[in-house]
Amino acid sequence: MPSKTCALCHSARPILKRPKTGQQICKDCFFKVFETEVHNTITEANLFRTGDRVAIGASGGKDSTVLAYVMKTLNERYGYGLELFLLSIDEGITGYRDDSLETVKRNQEQYDMPLKILSYDELYGWTMDRIVSTIGRKNNCTFCGVFRRQALDRGASALNVDHIVTGHNADDIAETVLMNIMRGDIARLGRCTAICTQGEDTIRRSKPFKYAYEKEIVMYAYFKKLDYFSTECIYSPDAYRGHARAFLKDLEAARPSAIIDIIHSGEAFEVKQEVKATQKLQQTCKRCGYMSSNELCKACTLLEGLERGLSHAVITDRARQKLDAEEPPSQAMRTIPYFNLPRAPGVTS
Ligand code: SF4
Ligand SMILES: [Zn+2]
Ligand SMILES: [Zn+2]
Repeated sequence: MPSKTCALCHSARPILKRPKTGQQICKDCFFKVFETEVHNTITEANLFRTGDRVAIGASGGKDSTVLAYVMKTLNERYGYGLELFLLSIDEGITGYRDDSLETVKRNQEQYDMPLKILSYDELYGWTMDRIVSTIGRKNNCTFCGVFRRQALDRGASALNVDHIVTGHNADDIAETVLMNIMRGDIARLGRCTAICTQGEDTIRRSKPFKYAYEKEIVMYAYFKKLDYFSTECIYSPDAYRGHARAFLKDLEAARPSAIIDIIHSGEAFEVKQEVKATQKLQQTCKRCGYMSSNELCKACTLLEGLERGLSHAVITDRARQKLDAEEPPSQAMRTIPYFNLPRAPGVTS
């Protein structure tokens, strides 16, 4: 039987069951607890300094839209002193990204943040549509992920920002932990749970939603009536990641703390010196000048393959798994069964 009052304020009527804890709480307490947890994640990890210029990687999807809204709210509430920007990448996917970018353009006005859009076409001379028509429906996300990573760095340097924040959430990170365990890639485990990463010469990247559950992000967007785009990318998601995701959802259904537990397990792995990834000397790509550990950066290696019609030879299974293990290809490819429901999940009445 649902309780009569909110488990947190003990006065208002509860209208939702919090996915992370199972508590029956009211809407205001949900907003407060969600925002406070993100604030605590940010302050405990010392993510920002006053005066930082921060770009929010914005796809128009639920994660990055909620991230932009919450970053704006917390920046004002707690006086972080950040200058916030929206940074979007146009992969060139007709019927998908062109529509989601319209959402980002509306967000720009709603949140009063400057927006920069960079396209694969202008950066690489290829759109994802053309890549898929050339290589077929295989490895699409591998190309897209490598290109996006570099595009975000380039966009950030054009905006002259110190920091990029992305909407990767706890589910994404737990999935990546599982994938690295399933592959025995222990060296990558520590890195994939890091809230903030920064290589030499690269811009700081962080994940303020590291401990935020996907279901709670969906609920937050729903109850705040945020304007976001919920259609999935038309290209094929990685099947292997799909298995990790399905497994994680099953675990979550049996015990909601499973997601955080898996992240904590990943964090707790002590990586012995001999299994740490070998650090290669940093140099610049001879083709585009981007920093790279080889003569050609990953994007240019893929581009040369595409141009020579050798894209399949460039991506071996092992290489693809390694590239994909960096982080989920995009929030866009998620299957969110509850998007089409009239009410958010866990809403009691
Ligand atoms: S699912 Fe994401 S990474 Fe894959 S092709 Fe689509 S936009 Fe790119
Ligand atoms: Zn309450
Ligand atoms: Zn290059």
